[in-house]
Amino acid sequence: MPEALLAIAYGRARRELAMQVCAALKIERRLPPGATVWLKPNLVVAKPSSSGATTDPEIAAGVMAYLNDHGWRRFGIMESSWLGTATREAFRVCGYEEVARRFGAQLVDLKADAAERMEVEEAGLTVEVCRTALRAEAIIDLPVLKAHSQAKLTCALKNLKGCVPDREKRRFHALGLHRPIAALAKALPVALVVVDGVTGDLTFEEGGNPVDMDQVFGGFDPVLVDAYAAELIGYAPWEIPYLTLAEEFGVGSGSLAQARLLVLNSGEKPRGSRPACGGRAAVLAEAVEAREACSACYGPLLHAMARLKEAGRLPSRPVRVGQGFRGLRGEGPGVGSCTAGLAPHLPGCPPTGRAILDFLRDLKE
Ligand code: SF4
Repeated sequence: MPEALLAIAYGRARRELAMQVCAALKIERRLPPGATVWLKPNLVVAKPSSSGATTDPEIAAGVMAYLNDHGWRRFGIMESSWLGTATREAFRVCGYEEVARRFGAQLVDLKADAAERMEVEEAGLTVEVCRTALRAEAIIDLPVLKAHSQAKLTCALKNLKGCVPDREKRRFHALGLHRPIAALAKALPVALVVVDGVTGDLTFEEGGNPVDMDQVFGGFDPVLVDAYAAELIGYAPWEIPYLTLAEEFGVGSGSLAQARLLVLNSGEKPRGSRPACGGRAAVLAEAVEAREACSACYGPLLHAMARLKEAGRLPSRPVRVGQGFRGLRGEGPGVGSCTAGLAPHLPGCPPTGRAILDFLRDLKE
């Protein structure tokens, strides 16, 4: 079973944060010396990371810089974008041509790769996987944290779907996604996950409703990483069927209670979130009174509000959040320890989206 360890770094400087996460996890312990390391970002569409849809190339740069400092020299970056998107175009638009040049990494479009069928006994399924991924000596999964209309969450496990041919992606959808995603995680073990949690999407894997969370986090167990990601955006891990199945198939464990969490820079959360800049996130932000709120609080709050809106349970009063409420007394609801003087309020710095959801859902109006 992979080590139950998570490292979380708050901020927006993705390259530095990714390097801090790698250092805290001491990833050099877990990678074969001298191996070619393959990075798998999420480039589902050809849109920059500010859209909320894709992994920023500076996450890849941080991981490669750290490994370079520790003696690794050979890197590859692989992806097969969503049906109808040319991966080469996604590499270009998302900034991967430039980052690959900087580190001498190969860029491999998995749409042009041969594929092999793998039987996953635990799942009672075969999955077809691109050969470059199957033969990789070490895979580092670099997802972006997003909600997903069908699967609820797309992060570490679901990002691996970019390692299968297009016809297999279609079959995954026909099979309802959850079992094949968990089976693929069993067929394609990853050495490490580093998540771009700086900007993700509120509802949809192709972006359009970007929400800032201002953090990078990672670990060796993709199920554990996804369990943490699920909590951030307002879900219990058991609400995501592919996480439960992946546990059942022996991929890892989603038990956050049994994991060691290393929060690297709790006191350095960037103050003053950028306003929700589009679509549904901007609409939900109208129900929030934010004063110098960190995105680490504001982002999970928007995710919780989205889940409440889906359930028709949005609070009737504006929800208050941010460092600007420190020391003030008054009416809540307030979210985060900065609103301790408001009644009612939810402690935590920051609270998870799931804790916010439970708090707001149980409010007496
Ligand atoms: S509780 Fe306050 S300091 Fe902590 S994350 Fe929220 S807004 Fe920032």
